[in-house]
Amino acid sequence: MFHGQLKKVFRESHAKGANLLAPVPTAMPMVTNCLDRGDYIGVLSEMRQHQCLRAGDVETWVFDLDNTLYPARYDLFAQIDQRMGRFIARKFGISTSEAKIIQKKYFHAHGTTLRGLMLNHGIEPNAFLSYVHDVDVSVLPTDPRLHRALEGLGGRKFVFTNASAAHAWRVLERVGIASHFADVFDIFTAEFVPKPTPGVYDRLIRHCDFDPAKAAMIDDIARNLRPAADRGMLTVWVSNGDPTAPLENDIDYVDHVTGDVAGWLSDAGVGTHRS
Ligand SMILES: [Mg+2]
Repeated sequence: MFHGQLKKVFRESHAKGANLLAPVPTAMPMVTNCLDRGDYIGVLSEMRQHQCLRAGDVETWVFDLDNTLYPARYDLFAQIDQRMGRFIARKFGISTSEAKIIQKKYFHAHGTTLRGLMLNHGIEPNAFLSYVHDVDVSVLPTDPRLHRALEGLGGRKFVFTNASAAHAWRVLERVGIASHFADVFDIFTAEFVPKPTPGVYDRLIRHCDFDPAKAAMIDDIARNLRPAADRGMLTVWVSNGDPTAPLENDIDYVDHVTGDVAGWLSDAGVGTHRS
């Protein structure tokens, strides 16, 4: 009953693009009692009752890149999205509006537009990715607060992205946090099978060689966290009101939610041992 009420609040808040850091309804005193720093961290920890890993015990941190390690409001994805449409329009000699329909159809059917283009048209991934990621990253500011938060966090850190490593390193350099990451597990390493396909998470764990029971994953798309949770990882959902990151009905696999990654990591870093 309690969890049902909570999920309803989440869905409604998310649908309205509400700031989840806003005060919770006073009609839900149980929720208020669970709150940690005014967000829903404690509540979601309670929702996933089998979770026992504390942030301070995490040995490996796995971060999504886009809209996770920089705020969604800089809308870098709008540039990528536009270039995907332009690539398809040129390739097939069609209008940009026709291209947009194909782009979205493949995204929803295959997890990424690239996957649909590869399976249905044999598109060469390098050509597509280098074109669509040729975006202006100067719209992103450096983030010294996030840099300090990562610095204070023990354990190894990886990026796990459906984009290319080249794009990821460009963004990490621009934001000023590249030095913190041991490696980027990108769509090439994943052999073009995107998140949230469960098998890719097993490949990630083998490739980066970590114990999922002592690892955490942070992503702005909630459904990407489900396979991580299934493998015993602590999960942190970055809720940024992005309408392209739809909230599923059942988010029991989410342990923590935050709209402020640097702030959350700063708190998590207290008590951890630097590697
Ligand atoms: Mg993302």
